[in-house]
Amino acid sequence: MTERDATPDPKSVRILIADDDPGLLESLRQLLSLEGYPVHTANGGGAAIEALRQESFDLLLLDLSMPGLGGVDVLRFMRAADLETLTVVVSGNSTVEDVAGALREGAHDYLKKPYEPAELMATVRNALQRKVLEDTNRAMRARLEQSERLHRVIVNNSPDIVFILDADKRFRFVNSRVHELLGYSRQDLLETSVLDLVEADERDKAEYFFDQARNRQTHLRSVELALRPARHSRTRRFFEVAVWPAGAGETHDHGGHEALTYGTARDITDRKESEAFINFQAYHDLLTRLPNRALFRDRVDVAISHAQRSGTRLAVLFIDLNRFKVINDSLGHTVGDRLLQGVAQRLQDCIRKGDTLSRFGGDEFTLLIPGLADNDAAVHVADKILESLQAPFEIGEHELFVGASIGIAIYPDAGDNLEALIKNADIAMYREKSTGRTGVRLYSPEMGGHPPQRLQLEQDMRRALDRDEFHILYQPQIDTHSGLMVGVEALVRWDHPRLGLLGPAEFIAIAEETRLIVELDRLTLRTAIREILHHNREGRPELRLAINLSPVLVERDDFVEDFLGILGETGFPPDLLEVEITENLLMSDTVDTVHKLNRLCAAGVQIAVDDFGTGYSSLSYLQKLPIHTLKIDRSFTHTICQEDEACIVNAIISMARGLQMNIVAEGVETEAHRDYLQRLECPMMQGFLFSPPAPLHALLTNGDLVAATATCQ
Ligand code: C2E
Ligand code: MG
Ligand code: MG
Repeated sequence: MTERDATPDPKSVRILIADDDPGLLESLRQLLSLEGYPVHTANGGGAAIEALRQESFDLLLLDLSMPGLGGVDVLRFMRAADLETLTVVVSGNSTVEDVAGALREGAHDYLKKPYEPAELMATVRNALQRKVLEDTNRAMRARLEQSERLHRVIVNNSPDIVFILDADKRFRFVNSRVHELLGYSRQDLLETSVLDLVEADERDKAEYFFDQARNRQTHLRSVELALRPARHSRTRRFFEVAVWPAGAGETHDHGGHEALTYGTARDITDRKESEAFINFQAYHDLLTRLPNRALFRDRVDVAISHAQRSGTRLAVLFIDLNRFKVINDSLGHTVGDRLLQGVAQRLQDCIRKGDTLSRFGGDEFTLLIPGLADNDAAVHVADKILESLQAPFEIGEHELFVGASIGIAIYPDAGDNLEALIKNADIAMYREKSTGRTGVRLYSPEMGGHPPQRLQLEQDMRRALDRDEFHILYQPQIDTHSGLMVGVEALVRWDHPRLGLLGPAEFIAIAEETRLIVELDRLTLRTAIREILHHNREGRPELRLAINLSPVLVERDDFVEDFLGILGETGFPPDLLEVEITENLLMSDTVDTVHKLNRLCAAGVQIAVDDFGTGYSSLSYLQKLPIHTLKIDRSFTHTICQEDEACIVNAIISMARGLQMNIVAEGVETEAHRDYLQRLECPMMQGFLFSPPAPLHALLTNGDLVAATATCQ
């Protein structure tokens, strides 16, 4: 600001003159008025103080030596009152010490009497110019302070962390938000490197970013970084960090020409987490948290390319649970969901780090095993999986059993692309499943390129029920002692118009999954009852009827009413009827099942446990249930001629006898089987040795089975 600029307009200036000499006062007033200054006068120190109390003045011309209150007293008053009025002392006979004392008391200048008018005017102008400068300065300082306050408020209330770094990336400043968002105190951070806040795995990226930004080598002004909160228990938080190098002028405030970097860090944790979740959701099954079909396909694709380059093999396994739909439908989705989670967990425990297990849909899982040593390695994993599923799943009050059928397709034998591998693993799985048992099957080209027409079969089955395409074959149950047929087991068959005669293995699983089994079993029951009743009423020895019931049917709420209803309607004697149920049914929902079986039992119906020994029940457990008959699974009967194994059959028979249960040995195929069972006094037998399942009339004309009947009577 130039001096001229600082010269104030005289009319706006307020001047006070204080002197004890009225003549001098008047002459001074006139002199200043000539220059255009409005002037107030005070006659003596007391009057001056009074005037200063009343009004504010820009300039005071103050006589030092006045009687009573002198100039120094006036100056002291002004200092005490913190007045900003500029003072020029006018000294007559005062000493140099007096003048110096006045200057110490706050006077700005002095004028010695007598003075020339020009000298007076110059002093006044000088003083006023100085006053203007001081005022301007003060106003500027006030504005600065205000703006600084404003910035402080903005910085400290910013939702973001605001910081300044020095050339070594150490904090020079950081606002208090850092405490709230990351738990550090501002003081702790000063002088520490910003890199210390970055999670270890992102430190290189952060270092590069801050270096680039400081050196203005990049257009990249922001980066997403994971920062480490002060307390280790808290999970990492994500920030969008933006920085810019301080300009030359800006650095000045912070001491010299150091390269400072300004920055802000915005907490984007919520956004990152929801992004991560959305991403996870797109590629994972939320129930089991396993990769989903989409991710699985990706992984297989990548693995195939890798296998092609490296000339290695890989396996795709298709794993389909058995009986899952039945459990899900009868015990509800909550139980079903928890079962799937349990299965996923067990499967995961069977695989290695580089393998990918996915939930492909429903109760289907797929597994990718890259870098396969040989085919056996894949079979080995599959066996391990089956083994892991053997123990029951404890879910709430339920103890559940699920098996699985597993198909394996190996690259490159079973296909060199994603689609082929998945399809062929699926085909192999269906092949295995159609055996009706839990097992593993490796795809081979003879299985053909087309998956079984499962959907088609489902549709066909609905129609088949209406079109009477099902019929029943009967397999005799032989009394060991007499060698005679005393009962028959009803076994369903499907005359498929296109596929020919189908056995239960080919359609029972589908029928259970679609619940068509309910219709089918009721139809079988009615048909078998009608046919056996018809036979029994012809005056021949009565035949007992054994009938297989699916768990899907038994688990229905109205099962008992419905079943007894059919018996009542047809007039079939309940004591000639035996229902065959599987061990797994007994295990799945005990309370409800026991209750139902007790009601059937009370009505006179007998209960048999089919395929005994292949499930998970124990004899001691069965003791608590209303069971009349155990049917020893044919796999045990077939071990009879292998010395060590036969003892299982022995054990079952002697224990069952102890429990006073009837025993039927299934799958008796050879005379050796028969003789052995006879020696053990197994009461009943069933198997190809006597007859395969056949139409009832064929059995009745089979001399071996019935000829003796006549003699017996
Ligand atoms: P299951 O109740 O254990 O029936 C015995 C099965 O063993 C029958 O197979 C029969 O043909 C077969 N078999 C009989 N003797 C021998 C033998 O000496 N050696 C060998 N290797 N096998 C023998 P099938 O008829 O194929 O039935 C398979 C399964 O399907 C049955 O096993 C039963 O669990 C189920 N099933 C059959 N009919 C029905 C039905 O109407 N309803 C329901 N829910 N299930 C049925
Ligand atoms: Mg049976
Ligand atoms: Mg059986």
